[in-house]
Amino acid sequence: KADTGSKLRLYAPGIREEMEESQRLVSDLRDALDRDEFELYFQPIVNLPQRAISGFEALVRWNSPTRGQVSPGLFIPVMEANGLIVRLGRFVMRDACRQAARWPSNLSLSINLSPAQFKSADLVGDIRKSIETSGIDPRRLQLEVTESLFLDEADAILETLVQLRRLGLLVSMDDFGTGYSSLGYLSRFPFDRIKIDQSFVRDMSRSENIAIVRAVQGLGAAMGMTVVAEGVETAEQLAMLEAEGCTDMQGFLFSRPRPASDLAKMLVEVRNGFASGAYAVSSPQ
Ligand code: C2E
Ligand code: MG
Ligand code: MG
Ligand code: MG
Repeated sequence: KADTGSKLRLYAPGIREEMEESQRLVSDLRDALDRDEFELYFQPIVNLPQRAISGFEALVRWNSPTRGQVSPGLFIPVMEANGLIVRLGRFVMRDACRQAARWPSNLSLSINLSPAQFKSADLVGDIRKSIETSGIDPRRLQLEVTESLFLDEADAILETLVQLRRLGLLVSMDDFGTGYSSLGYLSRFPFDRIKIDQSFVRDMSRSENIAIVRAVQGLGAAMGMTVVAEGVETAEQLAMLEAEGCTDMQGFLFSRPRPASDLAKMLVEVRNGFASGAYAVSSPQ
């Protein structure tokens, strides 16, 4: 008894509470999967020459009855650490494909995959099933992965990506420039799309960031990858990106991620934004 007491006193006050809260979070997340508390929001990706939305990225939200709406930045890392992400990933894949199968067929659907999902038993089988059940054309599907995916078992990961590609879908490198070994993996796997991380877009008044945007743009052109700039919030950023030859963008300037019920509204609002000059674009239509 005395022993247990002294051990507990080794922890600084507050650490015990933190550990309990983190256990509560995990158990709430497990319940949330059982109770369908997750919902997909969608954020437009726009194409400047078309002056329109070319597709949407699915971004998951947790509507918790006790915590309110929780951001994925908070719960995705937790679910990755304990494997719950595999179940969440199945929901995201199934629900996103089911919804996108009913959209106009020119719209693409982007889905984020976490490294832990690649360690699950049958990622390729799960994705194939979602495609078949929904009837979506796999060529409309973009899987987004980050550089951290390649930190371990890179050969197995590359093999899985090749298998996924055989299903007919496309693969994007997300948050490009924030991880490790990026250039090596670009040469080992033919990514279809590369997304410039928002940290480079945020401060384009810094010449270093413009240089990076320009370099990624050049990589994309040389390697046949579409380049998407993330986190575009202002007309100034749009103009600077366009000057660097960027044609595809995503960010709050066009729309925040919104629930599926707002999809038609987003299509109209973005079209109107181009027509009214709210997004001043000089590239030919
Ligand atoms: P991400 O895939 O890089 O998604 C882009 C994030 O940037 C989203 O945050 C989006 O809301 C935010 N964003 C978009 N435009 C702007 C902008 O103009 N300014 C700023 N400041 N932010 C912008 P969100 O929805 O909070 O998601 C955060 C991350 O959580 C995602 O980053 C992705 O890594 C992960 N995530 C989200 N949904 C899923 C999912 O279904 N599965 C997995 N595995 N990860 C997900
Ligand atoms: Mg993404
Ligand atoms: Mg990103
Ligand atoms: Mg990110």
